Amino acid sequence: MKRTIETIEGDTTGVSYSIPVYTVSGARSDTAPSAYLQAGLHADELPGPAALHFFLEMLREAEAEGRVLGAVTVVPHANPIGSSQYHFQKMEGRFSLGTRDNFNRAHPHLERPDQALLPVDDTSMSADKKLKWRLAKLSLGHDIILDLHCDDESLNYVYIAEELWPQTQDLASCLDADAVLLWSGDADQPFESAALAPYLGPDYKKILQEKLVVSTIELRGQRDVDRTTAHLDARRLFNFLVARGVIEADMGVSPPKPYQGPVIPLLNIDMLEAPVPGIILYHVDPGSEVEEGQPLVTLIREPGNPDRDVTLTAPQAGLILTRRSHRYTRSGDALLKLLGSKPSATGKGSILEN
Ligand SMILES: [Zn+2]
Repeated sequence: MKRTIETIEGDTTGVSYSIPVYTVSGARSDTAPSAYLQAGLHADELPGPAALHFFLEMLREAEAEGRVLGAVTVVPHANPIGSSQYHFQKMEGRFSLGTRDNFNRAHPHLERPDQALLPVDDTSMSADKKLKWRLAKLSLGHDIILDLHCDDESLNYVYIAEELWPQTQDLASCLDADAVLLWSGDADQPFESAALAPYLGPDYKKILQEKLVVSTIELRGQRDVDRTTAHLDARRLFNFLVARGVIEADMGVSPPKPYQGPVIPLLNIDMLEAPVPGIILYHVDPGSEVEEGQPLVTLIREPGNPDRDVTLTAPQAGLILTRRSHRYTRSGDALLKLLGSKPSATGKGSILEN
């Protein structure tokens, strides 16, 4: 296994960022599929980096035994810019402080999977844009591209493009995902849509249908970082690469079963927003099954004056997927995601939140 460092020049003199990248070339890389795993693009989402820490141990062991067949690239923490952004003792890992852009939006879309389309010189770009191009360069050409994220407080779920469903249901099955969110379009160009974009042309139909796996994986909530969970996620990712023939199994691994969990188009997701500011009292947890009209959240607008409380109810029956980790909301902020069985009356469709 090779460890190399990608360097991103910062926006001011004397500042640069280092990204460790681990690669295994693969014993049969001419025929076996290749894989790219990345985590920490939102720098403060750490279940993914912790899982890749243990995944790399498994990969080293497999490599030593000659069981890594396809080329594997792993970027365990992709965003040192975000990690360095501390504001009043809190990491701002989601947005670039320099440009105010979300690190997982506005990734460059290429017409075809061709390294020649990447910029030769990135010196005039802001550091966050350089990072996005660099990740495009590192991931381009792999058959399996997985981007590990997490939500605030959440179940374990994955985003998959409609073009890749149902042929990638083995991913959801291996990860034991609580839900699959099917998306289409490219509204705000997250990394995942940029990784898929080069294969949408007619020349790449076969790759799209037979080999390509691209997904954003939400490994529960921000505080779900512990040894047992990280090890479990590492093993599940490893087993998926075994199922796809990137790695040879060290013991009997049964092939993944068809995915049995909910598969929900983004249009069916109700993002509950706060109509007023206040203290958030949740009536439900991620994983709660709710009926239409059931109370979900009470907002205390003015402590001591219950007449001003506002209680929000479920707009339709469904499953609570996520909720926020903070307990005070401004008006207009999102409070939770509910997976419904029919389109949301207020659904945003292509992208859920910024
Ligand atoms: Zn994220």
